[in-house]
Amino acid sequence: MNLKEEERRARLLKMRAERLPDIKKQFEEAQKRNFNSNFAPGGKDAKLVAKPAKKAAAKATKTVKETAKSKAKSEAEARKVNLSVSTKKGEMVHHQRMLSQDVNAQATQHIIGVPVNKSRYNGYNGEQVTNAKLKSARPDPEAVRIIPIGGLGEFGIGKNMTIIEYKSEMIVIDMGVLFAGEDYPGVNYMIPDIKYLEDNMKNVKAILFTHAHLDHIGACRHLLPQFNPLIPIYGTDFTIGMIKKQMSELEDVPELNYQVVDPFKHEKFQVSEHLSVEFIHTLHSIPGNTAIVVRTPNGLIYLSGDWRHEENPMGRQTDYERIDEIVKNEGIDLMLNESTNIDSPGRHPHSEFDVGDSLGKVMDHYANGRVIISCFSSQISRIELILKEAAARGRKVAFSGFSMINNVEVALRAKSIKVPKDTIMKMEDIIKLPDEKVCIVCTGSQGELNAVLNRMVTGAHKFIKIKSTDTIVFSSNPIPGNEPHVVSTVDGLLREGAQVIQNGKTHLTNIGPLHLSGHAYYEDHVDFVTRLHPTTYMPYHGEFYMLQHNAEMAENVIGIPKDNILIADDGDVVEFTKEKKLRKAGRIHVGNKLYDDADQPVHEAVIKDRIHISREGIFVIVLTLNKKTGHLLKTPDIVSRAFIYLDNSEELIGKIRHYLRQKTDKSISTDPEMKVLKEEIKEDITHILFDATGHTPIVIPVINKV
Ligand SMILES: [Zn+2]
Ligand SMILES: [Zn+2]
Repeated sequence: MNLKEEERRARLLKMRAERLPDIKKQFEEAQKRNFNSNFAPGGKDAKLVAKPAKKAAAKATKTVKETAKSKAKSEAEARKVNLSVSTKKGEMVHHQRMLSQDVNAQATQHIIGVPVNKSRYNGYNGEQVTNAKLKSARPDPEAVRIIPIGGLGEFGIGKNMTIIEYKSEMIVIDMGVLFAGEDYPGVNYMIPDIKYLEDNMKNVKAILFTHAHLDHIGACRHLLPQFNPLIPIYGTDFTIGMIKKQMSELEDVPELNYQVVDPFKHEKFQVSEHLSVEFIHTLHSIPGNTAIVVRTPNGLIYLSGDWRHEENPMGRQTDYERIDEIVKNEGIDLMLNESTNIDSPGRHPHSEFDVGDSLGKVMDHYANGRVIISCFSSQISRIELILKEAAARGRKVAFSGFSMINNVEVALRAKSIKVPKDTIMKMEDIIKLPDEKVCIVCTGSQGELNAVLNRMVTGAHKFIKIKSTDTIVFSSNPIPGNEPHVVSTVDGLLREGAQVIQNGKTHLTNIGPLHLSGHAYYEDHVDFVTRLHPTTYMPYHGEFYMLQHNAEMAENVIGIPKDNILIADDGDVVEFTKEKKLRKAGRIHVGNKLYDDADQPVHEAVIKDRIHISREGIFVIVLTLNKKTGHLLKTPDIVSRAFIYLDNSEELIGKIRHYLRQKTDKSISTDPEMKVLKEEIKEDITHILFDATGHTPIVIPVINKV
C-alpha cells in the first residue's frame, strides 16, 4: 500500500469515527418515527384509521341492495352443483392469492411508483418523503431541475435518461434501453416512458448523447421520431454514427438535426437562452465517449456519463487539462457521477495493452489452430488490438455477428479504429485459409443463445463449426445474470474438444488478463471526485445500493457534507437552487415501455398472463346451449394448454363434463345472466382442477347459444 492510500484510509477511519454520534442520533430519531405510532390517537396518520360517520341515507340504499342480494343468493344456491372435491374452497383461494402475489412480484420488478427512499441522502434527513410533503414543498421557479427519467435505483442498469430544466428550457441527455431478462417472458427490452417530455415537447431545446452504448442510445429508434426534427442532437462522430445506424433500421428514416461534436475543441453550445453545454472527452470502453458540462444560471453541472481512468490509454487520455481548467476558473457546483463499479475495490489493475498482449499470447500458444475471440461488439479498441496482434503473426481476421460488423463499419467511418493493411477478410473467404492463418472475432461472449458463438457450437452457423483444434477466447466478463448461459456455451465448446480461455481464470492457462471493465473502480472515484471538488453531489447510473455506496464515498472520503449529497430515484424532481442547494421537490410520471424481439410493444397485463400461464397453464371450455331450452346441445369442448395433457386425464375430463351437464340443467329455471353463469362455472372448474392437480390454471368458459 503506498503512502497516499494509507493516508486516505486513515482519513476515512477518522471521518467515520466523527460521524458515529450523528448516525446514532439518526437511528434514534428513526425509531421515534416508527410507522405504527403514526396511526395511534394523536399520531399524524390517526385520521386515516378513524371510522367514517354513517349516514342514514346510505343505510337505506343498503337495505334495498341487500334484498336484491339475498334473492340472487338463493338463486345461486339453486344452481349449486356438488363438486365432490376433497379440498376446501379456502385452500384454492389461498393458492390463487399466493400465486397472484408471486406473479405480481415478478412482473412489477421494473415498475417504479413512488419509491421508498429513507436513505440518509434523500434530502429529508432520512424521513420518508410522502406525496403530501412533496406537494407542500413549493417549486422554486428560479431553480434548475434535474429529473432522472431512467437509470437510477432500478433493477439492472439501463435505460439511462436525464432531463435538465430551467424555467421553460429543457435539455435531454441520453435515451437508453434496458434488457429485460427471463423474468419478463417474451420481452426483449424496455425503454423509458417519456410522458413528461410528451407533455412539454415545445420546451425541449437540445438532445445530447454521452456515448453510444445501448444503455444510453438504445431507445433512439423509438423516441427520437417523437421530437421536433429541428431540435439539435449533439454527440461525437462515433456516437452520432451509431445513432444513425440505429435509425436506418426504421421504415421511414427521419431527417434529424444531427450536430457532430469534436470534444477537443472545447466548444460551448448555447442551446437555449439560459443553458449552454460542453462535451468533455473521457475514457470508457467505447470510442467517442464524453462527459457533459451544463452551464446554468445557478451554476455549473458536470454529468460524468460512463467513465474509467487509465494510466496508459490506447487513444487520447481523458481531457484532464480541460477539466482542471474548468474546476480552477469556474468551479463545479453539482456533479452527477456514475456508480456502476463503486463496489469494486482499488483501481484498474491493468490496461487495454495488457489485454492485447494476452490475446497475442493466445495466438502464440495455440499457433496451429483457429483462434476465435468473442467480446462486446462496441469494444472498438479491443478489436483494434486483435487486428494488430493477428497482423503481426500473419493471421487474417474476419468479423461475425450483425452488431459486430455494424460497429466496425461505424468506427471505420468515424476514424475511431486503426486497421493494419490486408488483414480483414470476409467470413466466406477466410474459411478457405489454413487454420493457423485464421482469427475470428464474434459476438456471443454472454452466452446468448442465438449469437454467433452458440451457433458455431450447435453447428447452425453457415461457415464455422467448432473443432477440437480451435481455441476460443472470452475477452469479457459475464454480466450479472448471464453466468448460466456463459457456462452452457463453455460446456458446449469443451464437448467439441476445443480450448476455452476465459478472463479471470488465468491460473488455468497462465494467460490473462483478457478484459478491462469500462467503469471506474472505487479508488478511481475517490481521486476523480477529489479532483473535481464539487459543491453538491448526485450519484447516478446505478442500482440503489450503488448510489448509496457512491454517496457514502462522497461524504466519508471526499468530505462533501451530507446535506449536499442527494440520492434520487427515477421520476424525482431535484431542484438545484441559486444558493447551490439540492432538494427533492416533486415527482413526475415515469415508467417503462416493453418491447418484444419484433420491436412491438407488450402490455404489462400480457406479461402477467404469460407468467401465470407459464406456471399454471390455461384451460378453455366451450359450451353450446339450446337458445330456447337452455339444454346442452353437445358434449362440451375442452382445451388444455401448458396445463395437463388431456389424453392422460380421462377421469378428470369425465368429471368436468359431468359437472357441466348438471350445472347447465340446474341453471335453466333461474336463467342467470351469461356473465354470472360464466363466473360460477369458472370458479367451480378452477376448484375441481385445483383439487385434482394442486394448480389453478386460467379458466376460460365460452358459452354459445344456438
Ligand atoms: Zn457505457
Ligand atoms: Zn452506461
